[in-house]
Amino acid sequence: MKYHIQTFGCQMNVSDSDWLDRSLKSAGFEKASAEDDAGIFIINTCSVREKPEQKVYSHLGRLKFFLEKNPSAFACVGGCVAQQVGRDFFQRFPYVRLVFGPDGLGMVPGALKRLEQDPALKISLLDFEDYYPEKPGNWPERMPPRAFVNIMQGCDNYCAYCVVPYTRGRQKSRSSREIINECRELIRLGVKEITLLGQNVNSFGRDKNGLEISFARLLRELNSIQGLRRLRFTTSHPKDMSSGVIKAFGELETLCPHLHLPLQSGSDKILKDMGRGYTTQKYLELVDSLRLVRPDITLSTDLIVGFPGESDEDFQLTLEMMNDVGFDSSFSFKYSDRPGVRAALMGPKISEEVKSARLDVLQKLQQEWTAKKLARRVGSSDLVLMDGPSKKQKAGVYSWQGRDGGGRVVNIDFHNREDLTGMILPVRFTRAKKHSLEGEVAS
Ligand code: SF4
Repeated sequence: MKYHIQTFGCQMNVSDSDWLDRSLKSAGFEKASAEDDAGIFIINTCSVREKPEQKVYSHLGRLKFFLEKNPSAFACVGGCVAQQVGRDFFQRFPYVRLVFGPDGLGMVPGALKRLEQDPALKISLLDFEDYYPEKPGNWPERMPPRAFVNIMQGCDNYCAYCVVPYTRGRQKSRSSREIINECRELIRLGVKEITLLGQNVNSFGRDKNGLEISFARLLRELNSIQGLRRLRFTTSHPKDMSSGVIKAFGELETLCPHLHLPLQSGSDKILKDMGRGYTTQKYLELVDSLRLVRPDITLSTDLIVGFPGESDEDFQLTLEMMNDVGFDSSFSFKYSDRPGVRAALMGPKISEEVKSARLDVLQKLQQEWTAKKLARRVGSSDLVLMDGPSKKQKAGVYSWQGRDGGGRVVNIDFHNREDLTGMILPVRFTRAKKHSLEGEVAS
């Protein structure tokens, strides 16, 4: 039977789904060209907010249509919602025959073979391991220029609003040797830029009782791999950002001038209630230190509006903080209660109307900052790593898309039809658009 994977949520889920896709192909499964061509429906879920979780249920409801047409077809639910809801999926949706959590991912290809052979079987892979579960890479012969490498799983921070420690488990760092080997292999396969992934990469190695190198040291080791042109990482917790990592931004040739540093709120009271472990003053000091060693660094962040007890004054402080830092971009969300987290018991809750109004104000302010920051780039030049042809093509030219060092999307028009994938070109920025830049190759 052919498979179809639907992914919700963060970059870690996208990376997990990519691994599953490669591994199913190498195990002999065939990928469906479209959903209605599939017999195995895999949904990789996210429960970090209420909205993506609801999307999973409506997606499963919609699948009934395909499953009724094909009695041997079945669905599999993986990721954070699967870890939380577990075997209850089997009762609620009888056509779900496999549930797997983040640590069960590596066993999915084998489980699917067993499910195909025994139509009465249902399997749950929900146990947490107390070590990082290594999986074979199953890489294709040639890789695109940018790749993601997981360096850890789970989180120990238990921020008051977050389900991750419950759905992805406690922090488990991967062995630095495995990470370095995987990066070497990816570079051999054509990768130029690697983004290290983890819920809190700054605390890499701290769960290994001194037996693993620090994150700052890992960056240095990777920087010395021949052929690596660009290195990035996400996500960083401000409280765990070490001076060694800040220093690395000023010293390592491959480390791109971009950092995603989740602020969440500009109010010290709300940060304390969230259990974030830093103050706005500390956050601003971090920003200053980063800009001192890397003045061109691009900063992006995550912000939550309407956390329980957030007053108008607290929200105003978040807006002030946005102006103090001047983020290049941000991801902003309305707070929603997640089952089992501390904030679900906190009050007073903020009404949906107030949350929506605050989110609207915040996002408009961010749009102004993004526009300002992009406009400042016009006239300057940077190296751009070409990803592939742009989605929108203009008549008479060939438009290509890439990213500058700060991670901004750049579109460039060429007159010759030539495969530029993976090339790193000097580009002068000629125009700022709402979320991207336009440029021309600098001579
Ligand atoms: S640091 Fe906080 S918000 Fe981030 S994954 Fe861990 S618990 Fe969740």
